[in-house]
Amino acid sequence: MTGVVGAAPGGPDLRSLPRGRLEERVALAGGKPFNARQLFRWLHRRGAASLAEMTDLPLRLRERLAGESRLDTLERAGEQRSADGTIKWTWRTADGRLVESVYLPEPDRKTLCVSSQAGCGMGCTFCLTGTMGFGRNLTAGELVDQVHRANRRLVELGEGAAPRPLTNLVFMGMGEPLQNLDGLVTALDLLLDADGADFSHRRVTVSTSGLVPGIRRLGAETTVKLAVSLNATTDAQRDAIMPVNRRWPIAALLEACREFPLKPGRRITFEYVLLGGFNDADEDAERLARLLRGLPAKVNLIAYNESAGLPFRAPAPERVEALQRLLVARRVNAVVRRNRGRDISAACGQLAAAGGSLTSPAGPG
Ligand code: SF4
Repeated sequence: MTGVVGAAPGGPDLRSLPRGRLEERVALAGGKPFNARQLFRWLHRRGAASLAEMTDLPLRLRERLAGESRLDTLERAGEQRSADGTIKWTWRTADGRLVESVYLPEPDRKTLCVSSQAGCGMGCTFCLTGTMGFGRNLTAGELVDQVHRANRRLVELGEGAAPRPLTNLVFMGMGEPLQNLDGLVTALDLLLDADGADFSHRRVTVSTSGLVPGIRRLGAETTVKLAVSLNATTDAQRDAIMPVNRRWPIAALLEACREFPLKPGRRITFEYVLLGGFNDADEDAERLARLLRGLPAKVNLIAYNESAGLPFRAPAPERVEALQRLLVARRVNAVVRRNRGRDISAACGQLAAAGGSLTSPAGPG
């Protein structure tokens, strides 16, 4: 195939376009509506890396598209495999940024933890990604392409059937997804499209550090599940570790959660990272139970992973158990989330690809 390799400089990135706009571009390039559907399926069902792969699309149409648009594809820059089956990938974007995704296999699901930004500007003091600072929002194409590159690699590794081994997505990697809402909403539409990756909205979760207007918009514009990285039970405590709390304190955050449209039987997940000696006392559990009273909530308790250079320490294992027992006794659905991929720095709060080398791995926000 000559002349069609996938990306011409300039023009919009085809993988980032909402379906309607992709159809318009195909029509402008002289293609028929069924060509637009073919292109959409190549991009979002089969995860094509280039226009050259799309051999059933007319060559002339591909050449026109290549002349007027780009097709950005993430390049795999690193892969680390954990003894527990977790895989962490580092991807290089077209402009040289490094971002990470983490694959978490379980007997009943295969989940990808997706990054939403290069770096993060939220400044949570317990999170390595927070120390990187904000780089930029990832495009919709870069969000969905983490899923496509992972699916393709998993097939190569014999981890599932082509074309899509992944069953679940959590937007909990590097960055604050609700700071990238335009890209995120487009990406979710593409990922949930029946002609695309066809994920069920029941199997896609977006996690936030607590951006209240973003929670409202997510509820209004999507049907995916919500997780909130709470991590504290008083404003003084949360202010100290999550600067977002000074803008939207706990009461405002929980009010937005109470108003979040939930389908029958659904709950909001509250992530609670236990920081040894900081938020792991019995009183924290008592306050947490009071805060969540009446909310359809599930609490994920996560023992902190210590990171060099950050001042927090891991909780004693008995504190994790004690908090869970106290919460359950107060009728809060609380589970201890097993830390995965610790040996490859793929656990929560540990994603930080910087300057071409992995310093360690992201946050639950
Ligand atoms: S926890 Fe999430 S929101 Fe906070 S700094 Fe880390 S990546 Fe950003």
